[in-house]
Amino acid sequence: MSDEPFQIRNFIDGQFIEPVGGKYLDNIEPATGKPYSQVPDSDARDVELAVSAAEKAFGDWSRTPAADRSRILLRIADLIERDLEKFARAESIDTGKPLSLARSLDIPRAASNFRFFATAILHTENEAHVTDGIAFNYTLRQPRGIAGLISPWNLPLYLLSWKIAPAIACGNTAIAKPSELTPMTAYLLCEVCREAGLPNGVLNIVHGTGPNVGAAVTAHPKIGTISFTGGTVTGRKVAETCAPMFKKVSLELGGKNPNIVFADADQDAAIAGSLRSSFANQGQVCLCGSRVFVERPAYKDFVERFVEKASQLRLGDPLEATTDQGAIVSKTQLDKVKFYVDLAQQEGGTIALGGAAPKPPNERCQSGYFFPPTVITDLPVSCRVNREEIFGPVITITPFDDEEEVIGYANDTDYGLASSVWTQNLNRAHRVAEKIHTGTVWVNCWLVRDLRVPFGGMKQSGVGREGGEEALRFFTEPKNVCIAT
Ligand code: NAP
Repeated sequence: MSDEPFQIRNFIDGQFIEPVGGKYLDNIEPATGKPYSQVPDSDARDVELAVSAAEKAFGDWSRTPAADRSRILLRIADLIERDLEKFARAESIDTGKPLSLARSLDIPRAASNFRFFATAILHTENEAHVTDGIAFNYTLRQPRGIAGLISPWNLPLYLLSWKIAPAIACGNTAIAKPSELTPMTAYLLCEVCREAGLPNGVLNIVHGTGPNVGAAVTAHPKIGTISFTGGTVTGRKVAETCAPMFKKVSLELGGKNPNIVFADADQDAAIAGSLRSSFANQGQVCLCGSRVFVERPAYKDFVERFVEKASQLRLGDPLEATTDQGAIVSKTQLDKVKFYVDLAQQEGGTIALGGAAPKPPNERCQSGYFFPPTVITDLPVSCRVNREEIFGPVITITPFDDEEEVIGYANDTDYGLASSVWTQNLNRAHRVAEKIHTGTVWVNCWLVRDLRVPFGGMKQSGVGREGGEEALRFFTEPKNVCIAT
């Protein structure tokens, strides 16, 4: 067997091909800090090839009956499920997340994305409007052409499939760019798409860096629809490129999500839910509740019990079944986490748990990027650590005295992605949910997803909504036909 690392290829026009420039980047396994495969370092020339393929495929695919498109997407979902173990392992090695999480959450949800949009396109309705005996209007919703889909590293297959599925279900063709840090599941998806009979050119995947590939996708004049998920700074660049070209753009960006625990909440449920919303995927979920606010009568007890539970989370090799906390995705991200923990101490915070790099969990993971669950108290709400997205296993806990005060805290941020509220008072739940400026408010739960509901952020957490009807509308162009009567 060769010792050469496995080379991932671009997927263009149904073929696995080398990048035009012949260059590759090392794909590092976060748990070991060592390269385990290579990913194409593509550029605008590869994007150009993908555009030609997507353009050629668009005519036939956009005219393919919805029932036939649906059958292919359902087959893709079935094949992802058949290969669940292979996908989950690839996801865990690529991202550093526990294999158990990839197996139980990311990969099943990716299959659900394909299944959901495969069936949604069979049940759409077209509006008709009769204009006072003068005319009859009906709305055609037509595929828009080539969609550019750019996704981050934290939930690589789940987020990419959340874009690919609605884009191609609606009859568009697509060029997708996964994060170059986590390319493996996108590569496996291409194999599955081929086996499922997806026609050549309908989905093209071009691997590489944001500045080389992502920027070429957003700037390409023939890619009129851009769906982007990633950080707010990158999202701004995408918006700046797309605005003068009047592209249709959806931006799903960062967050600094409040997690509010009232004293009347079921404290056991609030602690268990907050543990997940703080540290799932090592805190690298855009929806994680990194700012925890606890009503003062419950504060002391909450902090004690939460810290106790968090200290029991087992940090370990992501591939081991007992691991709750895996590795941070990259050295850069690990350094960012450490920077914010240092900053928290400079800003007057108390480290109630964690705060320093742990011992490597085993021999294999000697050089891996690990950081333990970290809890910081005593920080002012307005400090940088409480305002900037850290995107790691670091949360702050702050007491509050009343409802208005905590709503103010929750909204005192540039972001507006998601929030959680824990209370047994139904009236309060409705009241607070209405006043918090986030795209999603979970009450007594976290990360419960229904693919039909609108998903997205307010303020600097994004523009536009994904999910269900919103996605079907985003990836189609409404055209009104007005017939005089
Ligand atoms: P990122 O650095 O913004 O990257 C996101 C994607 O954009 C990657 O594929 C990246 O490629 C690409 N990219 C970078 N520069 C680009 C450019 N100039 N033009 C076009 N594309 C470019 O974000 P990340 O660090 O991967 O992900 C973490 C962020 O995503 C966090 O802020 C998190 O909150 C956010 N997020 C949001 C949601 C949501 O639904 N709102 C979901 C998940 C994550 P490279 O990998 O090569 O840089």
